[in-house]
Amino acid sequence: MEAIVIGSGIGGIATSIRLAHKGYRVRVIEANSYLGGKLSFFELDGYRFDAGPSLFTMPHLVDELFQLVGRDPKDYFEYVPLEVACKYFFPDGIQIDGFANTSRFAQEIESKLEVPAHVVENYFANAEMKYRYTKGVFLERSLHKLSTYLTRDTLLGVLNLYRLGLFSSLNEVNEKRLMHPHLVQLFNRYATYNGSNPYTTPGIMNLIPHLEHGIGAAFPRGGMFEITGSLGRLAKDLGVEFSLNTPVERIVVEGKKAKGVQINGEFVPADIVVSNVDVVPTYRHLLPDQPAPEKILEYERSSSALIYYWGLDREFPQLDLHNIFFSQDYAEEFRQIFETGTVSEDPTIYINITSKYEPGDARPGGENWFVMVNVPCNTGQDWETLRETTRGKILRKLRPMLNTDVEAHIVAEDYLDPIRIEQRTGSYRGALYGASSNDRMAAFFRHPNFSRKIKNLFFCGGSVHPGGGIPLCLLSGKIVGDLVPSVEVPYQYQPELKQEVAV
Ligand code: FAD
Repeated sequence: MEAIVIGSGIGGIATSIRLAHKGYRVRVIEANSYLGGKLSFFELDGYRFDAGPSLFTMPHLVDELFQLVGRDPKDYFEYVPLEVACKYFFPDGIQIDGFANTSRFAQEIESKLEVPAHVVENYFANAEMKYRYTKGVFLERSLHKLSTYLTRDTLLGVLNLYRLGLFSSLNEVNEKRLMHPHLVQLFNRYATYNGSNPYTTPGIMNLIPHLEHGIGAAFPRGGMFEITGSLGRLAKDLGVEFSLNTPVERIVVEGKKAKGVQINGEFVPADIVVSNVDVVPTYRHLLPDQPAPEKILEYERSSSALIYYWGLDREFPQLDLHNIFFSQDYAEEFRQIFETGTVSEDPTIYINITSKYEPGDARPGGENWFVMVNVPCNTGQDWETLRETTRGKILRKLRPMLNTDVEAHIVAEDYLDPIRIEQRTGSYRGALYGASSNDRMAAFFRHPNFSRKIKNLFFCGGSVHPGGGIPLCLLSGKIVGDLVPSVEVPYQYQPELKQEVAV
């Protein structure tokens, strides 16, 4: 049984490992000259930058893939738990260390904001409860199979529906549970972890802080790319074949069955096809003659980002791996992004500096800054102008907060914007996380991990169920692995003999 996975994003690589483990002979076909899609890296004038994701939560989902095939994760991939998940800087000068440990974080908040520690501890307990009741239904199974609704997890979720915060916005939940505007802003920020608006996304999203502080955030040794890099090495060890620089032109369908793909005008057969490409271009470009699920494809996209990669010639000891410089008016910032479709006058700035953990990522005495602001997805804005004006806003905002003219220290520079994100990864409108989650029904408007109309066609990655971000893309691979038909004669690659055999 042969499987083709189109795209080598984290979801595609994870799926390839699951399919190889199930006994398929797997080929991953990637348009770019490199693996990883959004989760890739580049080097510039003595600095190394992770191109896209910078925050790594739920590392056990990566470990799980090595363990699944009987390997020791440590032979491939190492990560260190973070002591401080994020440093927060507010415009009034208040600074909070977001300790990964929830009790320590609660103490820090009590000392800085005079909010009793139990308020934050209760908040995390509530987040943990929501995660427990929903993960089995919303994250680990297909939402589109009847069998999902006949489980104990679903029953528990339904019985606790009123406690899940589905009927209020995240901001409303936070205003009710937290007692200080800075705390509300801090916990509203978690909506951006799936590209949503805290003022409209449902309150159930307050389970996200549990992923960062309860389960824990980590830093992968060697940088974020090591997640895709190490999983790519594992896949190759299992005999998965990778074809780079190879854009797939069509998914070939005959008699309502996926039969393979077309590359360079040639037909390449397969028993199953998995698309790791964003679901919109999958239908529009790879399946142009098939009926498309228009409602799903037209659903509002998540936010995108403007990223400035700055190589600096000095260090900033007051900063950590993850740093946030908040805006004065968070509601206005999200109104600009999701209603006006532009970049806020006063954007919240995120700075990631991997050279804090990997000094070799920057020139000696310098730092590699990944500076990001949330922006709308591309609907035809003038990105060249927005990029220039936003760069100026960031530098003007950082000057008093860091007491430094940061621009004077930039010695290497590049950028990423929604146009480049779409060009480099195929993400529709340059959205970071596929569809937004700005509605309580959003989870049901994500495309399933299989096609209802075309047999043997499956979907993984950030634009389909269960959603965007590294952990959910890894889970999409797990769901596809559970959905594909079993293999009667498994394919096995024997690395010691460098041989391919059917056993
Ligand atoms: P993608 O990475 O979207 O890759 C799809 C692949 O398909 C690409 O390699 C593309 O070249 C290939 N492809 C497309 N068309 C074809 C074709 N026709 N033929 C062959 N190949 C094709 N997530 C987090 O968890 N934490 C973060 O901190 C975080 N920050 C982010 C910051 C940025 C700037 C970005 C862009 C994303 C961020 N994310 C973050 C989201 C995360 O990166 C994505 O959800 C995840 O990497 C998407 O993986 P994927 O499997 O959907 O594939």
